Amino acid sequence: MPYSNDILIQAKDRLAERRLSAQRAADYRREQLYSQEPRLQEIDRELSQIGINAAKTILKNSDSKADMRQLADRSLALQKEYNEILGRLGFDPTDLEPVFVCQRCSDTGYIELDNRTVVCDCLKKLMSDIACEQLNANSPLQLCTFESFSLDYYSDQPDQNGSIPLNRMSNILNYCRNYADTFSLSSRSIIMRGATGLGKTHLSLAIANEVIRKGMSVVYVSAPDILSRLEREHFSYQYKEEESIFNSLIKCDLLIIDDLGTEFISQFSVAAVYNLFNSRILAGKPIIMNTNLTLNELLSTYSQRFVSRMMGSCDKLDFIGDDIRPRLKA
Ligand SMILES: [Zn+2]
Repeated sequence: MPYSNDILIQAKDRLAERRLSAQRAADYRREQLYSQEPRLQEIDRELSQIGINAAKTILKNSDSKADMRQLADRSLALQKEYNEILGRLGFDPTDLEPVFVCQRCSDTGYIELDNRTVVCDCLKKLMSDIACEQLNANSPLQLCTFESFSLDYYSDQPDQNGSIPLNRMSNILNYCRNYADTFSLSSRSIIMRGATGLGKTHLSLAIANEVIRKGMSVVYVSAPDILSRLEREHFSYQYKEEESIFNSLIKCDLLIIDDLGTEFISQFSVAAVYNLFNSRILAGKPIIMNTNLTLNELLSTYSQRFVSRMMGSCDKLDFIGDDIRPRLKA
């Protein structure tokens, strides 16, 4: 089990909620039907009574065979009448059964496979979702969407290089929308470059929201935060690789690292960034990295190997213009 006990308990709680709500919905349908057709409830009660009588007969053991046959016959007749009434009302006996989210395990989280009890995929998915939610707990995920992104703050006048910020940002916005709409595990990785306050965080969070809406797992972290957590974890005596934060960062469908280059730079952080990036690429999973650093600054901060690999395997989005945040506030 690659997750902590705490995550397993939370996942099982969610399954229990699913089971309970499926059961409540089924009870409600049954009550509605019984008020429409009281004979169904009478049959239901009599069937329960037969069950009790059958148990008593077995306990008394007196002449039980004949008695049992009589009870079985009565039970069958009642069941037949019950199903006939249901049919007349346009229902099937299965319509009164609970409808579970997962048909394979009936929301229990476990299935029998080759005479062994194994964890169902739905429980694995829940544990992965909860691990991502814990990592995202401090991220402003809900605040930034494509709808709340405005091009109004970008200049339509050429900058000193002759590029028009509004046009560039319009292309980047289209790229990001399309990326989010068509996202899959084989999507490209992205590096978003440019000065602070040009919308890199907003657009990467908008992508995250869309991908989450598709039911895939996304982890959004800032480089300073995640690297200090990884360092604490790495040097902790309780470290267990399979339960580690690093493991969740590799396993999620999309990893977004914001503010790359603003972390405390150390041998550990440089190695960890390379390790994270490389592990994602080797696993064939996309990663989005945002940085304020220029190419030269990246080269003087990280290894040449990392920078050339990153430039070679990512789509590059270069944000230009002036910091839009003062105008956003105004
Ligand atoms: Zn299941």
